[in-house]
Amino acid sequence: MHELGYAVEIIRTLEDFMEENHLTEIHEVTLTVGEATGIVPRFMQECWPAAIEDSDKIKDCKLVINWVESIGECHNCETQFPIAKCKRVCPKCGCEDYDTKTGYEFEITEIKGH
Ligand SMILES: [Zn+2]
Repeated sequence: MHELGYAVEIIRTLEDFMEENHLTEIHEVTLTVGEATGIVPRFMQECWPAAIEDSDKIKDCKLVINWVESIGECHNCETQFPIAKCKRVCPKCGCEDYDTKTGYEFEITEIKGH
């Protein structure tokens, strides 16, 4: 389960953010996570409290995850399609060559604190 590693990374980033912006508390953070990262939001939520436990600065912070589906664009006919649902094959022409348009996102998109 690599989600704990990611959760710890996020906590560190938040701690730095608090320091830089002179915040005393962060109570909610929103992450945007793409399907292609392999991160499972449910696992991320499960290991979040453990990651917080190791932090001196962050005590009670809610984690919100915006999950982004992987979308591919076919090289042949330019159709855009959900990669996992279509089993990596363009549903229109059957081509297996595509560009991944979305799904690699992994970023903090919102921090609520004071
Ligand atoms: Zn196609």
